[in-house]
Amino acid sequence: MQNDVITLFKRASFKTKIVIHFSIIILFTMMMFFSSINYFEEQIKNTTQKNLTTIREIKKHQIEDYFDHIENQLSTISSLPFILESANKLSSTFNTNEYQTQYDKYHKIFKKYFQYQDFGNVFLIDIKTDNIIYSMRDNFNGNQHINDKVFEKSNFQQLYYSMIMDRGFFKVVDFDFFHLSKGEPAAFYATTIFDENLNILAILMIQLSIEKIDNLMTGNKRWNKEGLGKSGESYLVAEDCTLRNNSRFFIEDTDNYFSQIEKYGTDKETIKNIKTYNTNILFQKIDKDLCTEIFKNKSSGVAIRNDYRGVKVISSFAPVDIEGVNWYIFSEIDTSEAFKLIDYLKKIAIFILFILVLILTITTYLFTNAISKPLDEIIEAFKDLGKGNLTKKLYIDSSNEFSNLVLNYNRALSNLEKLTTSVEKLSILSSTDYLTKIYNRHKFIEELKENIQRVKRTKETLSLAMIDIDLFKKVNDTYGHNIGDEILKEFSSTIKNELRTTDIFARWGGEEFIILFIDTNINQAKIVSEKIRISIEKNQFTKNINLTCSIGLSQYENNKKETINSFIQRADDALYKAKQTGRNQVIH
Ligand code: GH3
Ligand code: MG
Ligand code: MG
Repeated sequence: MQNDVITLFKRASFKTKIVIHFSIIILFTMMMFFSSINYFEEQIKNTTQKNLTTIREIKKHQIEDYFDHIENQLSTISSLPFILESANKLSSTFNTNEYQTQYDKYHKIFKKYFQYQDFGNVFLIDIKTDNIIYSMRDNFNGNQHINDKVFEKSNFQQLYYSMIMDRGFFKVVDFDFFHLSKGEPAAFYATTIFDENLNILAILMIQLSIEKIDNLMTGNKRWNKEGLGKSGESYLVAEDCTLRNNSRFFIEDTDNYFSQIEKYGTDKETIKNIKTYNTNILFQKIDKDLCTEIFKNKSSGVAIRNDYRGVKVISSFAPVDIEGVNWYIFSEIDTSEAFKLIDYLKKIAIFILFILVLILTITTYLFTNAISKPLDEIIEAFKDLGKGNLTKKLYIDSSNEFSNLVLNYNRALSNLEKLTTSVEKLSILSSTDYLTKIYNRHKFIEELKENIQRVKRTKETLSLAMIDIDLFKKVNDTYGHNIGDEILKEFSSTIKNELRTTDIFARWGGEEFIILFIDTNINQAKIVSEKIRISIEKNQFTKNINLTCSIGLSQYENNKKETINSFIQRADDALYKAKQTGRNQVIH
């Protein structure tokens, strides 16, 4: 397989090889780019996760400290003389005319004491009668019992009984709808008030301040300063998967928050409740799958998921260590913000990569063209040369290896041209008679041989005519050798006029000429020869000279005995006979 690939590559054209090389470079560059981006992405993810976890841990400790602080506070409060005193007095005067006076007296003290504490409401419940003997709220009518309908199955009632049952010192109960305050979510702490003999006198119930928790979780709305940027926040979630403090988006940009949760498909009832009670607590749900999983496994960790707005966030979560509640803390930030840099880098990388691929593609195209185009032209030129076409010159204007090659090709071409012309000239010279410009004896013999070879197969007829000028010596003697030459030229052209293009006509030597008649028998040859003889006789040569000629004919005998010599000899013999028997005649 590997060998096959190598062989294929070796056989590939020059152009293909260059393209493969450049493709490998492009591929490699792309891999480098994407692996570095992946590396950066991982780094940024890790850093974001670490930062979120740090923020989460700080918040977790703050909220846990806050609950510890409340416990300490309640421990102090429970042993304050005015609490014990008020519990005694309010309990003993309950349902009497005296009660209101006592209430007003202690209310002032309560208000003064609790005004700087972060509590919602403060209650005192008499454990002998289960009557609510004090509530700090101004509209308290002093006529409430823990088993009243408004407290039925409430966390408030639950906490109270649990304090009595366990004889606990400090307890917390998670948020629930509190019908005493129109169903608003409320959570409570409780502590026991002992009398001098350490008997339980009353339970002090304190309503948790949502505002305080919000302030803690939002860092007094300074999310940005606490490292959560423009979209980060920390919030608490209970086992029912609803929030335990108000979310950043609800606090910061309420309208946008509602339009987002509506778009995400939050049910109308929930949205209505959030609007009515003006709180996320007990209403705003988070992603159920993650919520169930973490509460089941009691795990802490990091996840990328959609938050309650349907926005993708990276979040770090851990259980909060507060006795009495089962809460998780989440610190998270939108991935679009956390990975802004990586998104930006990705965009830049893709742009750079695009430019790079473009440049490489153009370079490859130009490079292959610069090499393969002249190469193709040169190959074509050599092909032409192989076919014998010597006219194709090459033109390359740049000066590189190719122009050098082309220059030398052109030189070789023109040398070849000269050589061919010389060869052609030489072949004409070697086959032509210098005086009459018709074939010479050498060329005639060649033609005769070829034709004999042919007719041996085709059984065609061939005839020869040997022509000699009568008494030519006289012409030379009378008019001189130059006129003799002139007449020889005129003689040959006169004969030529009588011939067909297929006839082969040559000067045999001196004033003797020879004709080979193709596909012609002796009778046909005789007719032509007569015509020749007559045209010579009638012709007026230079200096008004009149001439005659004698012609001897022979026909090719297509048998084994016949040779070129015997064929010529018979014509020569006939000519001799013509001379002997009176000249100016055709004999065969
Ligand atoms: P016949 O053939 O009729 O017997 O008489 P003839 O005078 O033609 O015979 P002969 O063969 O004796 O003479 C041929 C003459 O042709 C001799 C020579 O002077 C002349 N001759 C041969 N070649 C050339 C040539 O190239 N130029 C010129 N001007 N004369 C030539
Ligand atoms: Mg003669
Ligand atoms: Mg002669």
